Amino acid sequence: MSAQIGVTGLAVMGANLARNLARNGYTVALHNRSIEKTDALLEKYGHEGDFIRTESLQELVDSLEKPRRVLIMVKAGKPVDSVIDQLVPLLEPEDIIIDAGNSHYEDTRRREAALAEKGLFFVGVGVSGGEEGALLGPSIMPGGSRKSYESLGPMLEKISAKYKGEACCAWIGTDGAGHFVKMVHNGIEYADMQVIGEAYDVLRSAAGIEPAEQADIFTEWNKGTLSSFLIEITAEVLRHTDPRSDKPFVDILVDSAGQKGTGRWTVVSALELGSPTSGIAESVFARGLSSQREQRLLAQETLKGHESSVELPESFVEDVRLALYASKIVSYAQGMDMLGAAAKEYGWELKLDEIASLWRAGCIIRAELLDDVMKAYAGEDRPANLLLAPAFAEAIAEAVPAWRRVVATAVQLGIPVPVFSSSLAYYDGLRRKRLPAALTQGLRDLFGAHTYNRVDAEGTFHTQWSGDRSEIEAVDTH
Ligand code: NDP
Repeated sequence: MSAQIGVTGLAVMGANLARNLARNGYTVALHNRSIEKTDALLEKYGHEGDFIRTESLQELVDSLEKPRRVLIMVKAGKPVDSVIDQLVPLLEPEDIIIDAGNSHYEDTRRREAALAEKGLFFVGVGVSGGEEGALLGPSIMPGGSRKSYESLGPMLEKISAKYKGEACCAWIGTDGAGHFVKMVHNGIEYADMQVIGEAYDVLRSAAGIEPAEQADIFTEWNKGTLSSFLIEITAEVLRHTDPRSDKPFVDILVDSAGQKGTGRWTVVSALELGSPTSGIAESVFARGLSSQREQRLLAQETLKGHESSVELPESFVEDVRLALYASKIVSYAQGMDMLGAAAKEYGWELKLDEIASLWRAGCIIRAELLDDVMKAYAGEDRPANLLLAPAFAEAIAEAVPAWRRVVATAVQLGIPVPVFSSSLAYYDGLRRKRLPAALTQGLRDLFGAHTYNRVDAEGTFHTQWSGDRSEIEAVDTH
């Protein structure tokens, strides 16, 4: 018996993907650097399907049908390069190496180019859904050459999550496109969680609504346009009482949020692309600020707030829901805009409707809203920005008055709402007729002769600020 796919790296994610493949009828060859993990998997779950136990990468490769498919699921970074280096001499042209870990897309681009020179396919696959998703069906974002997808795609589609029967897996684009899209997914996940946190904070700090009562509110919200996995689990966490202290669970948690890096990668990449992804950036910064415990303690004693009291409208809870919804739409709009910028930069033909469709099930940001995002980008008439799609322009217009009230209330009460407020600023920035960027250009021309364009004439100009202030036509230095 030969295996259709080999998996090396059998920690939580690798083991669950291997089991998912076997449960779906594939024969899976198993390998791990240390044999204990392989044996533990076989002992506990060997009955779930057809597995082949191997002790070395040579044995793993020998057990596979051709063209061979080897899925690497080891720790991201150097271990991936090390495993690739060991595999390459054992493989033949047309064989496929798949990296389904959280690799940086630039690493994937580099690895793909190097392996292509050897006639091997390298497929960087973004996988979202955590441990449970890996086992039961994750959202899968494969990059690499289209040809490699012909051999690998059906397998990945079979083990992926399904949204109303449709596989949450499709070829994303060449080289690092899959890992790039997964990275932006994670960035949106940061923003999604931050806006939920801001809604919770405003409801609690402005309106005094305790966690258990908020759990009911979030459960209710989960029945409407906000329906999503993250809103659902927010209700679950808020409803939980800590058995040790009998306090709301959320109150016994240290308020410093950690991060593993994909949010930071998204922001670095957004800066490089010049993409205004402010919601994701503010979410990453909010986690950073939450972790500055020493400075926060000193600031609590030193910095004055001068908050003013605010009379909350009857509709306050509904206002917060609308602020959350509008900010969430902006985060998606920014993430999609960033994907568009990356597609231009890297020559990827990213299909935004298809990408939104892959996120409708299996992944952490799965939400009803994504079905609407998919529809907005489907067909010929693609919006230049998600906010300009008629359905979203209308939805957000309805939310704007409430959104402004919530941001104003939070500002007056000294409750930080970095994503609610920066998303509103993005919305206003997009729609504003004149931006103060005009003044910025004037300043740049004065101190650095950076030149400017005029609203009333073609060309690039410079004012001779230190001379007679006459204008000359300049060569564009940008
Ligand atoms: P870990 O990231 O904890 O990595 C452990 C595995 O890597 C073990 O099998 C270990 O082997 C192996 N390994 C480490 N170094 C080497 C090396 N130099 N050579 C060979 N093997 C090595 O495993 P996870 O299952 O948590 O994650 C795997 C990947 O999936 C990571 O990229 C991670 O970021 C990503 N991930 C994705 C998630 C998602 O939702 N998509 C969630 C969690 C993780 P040994 O047993 O011998 O030590």
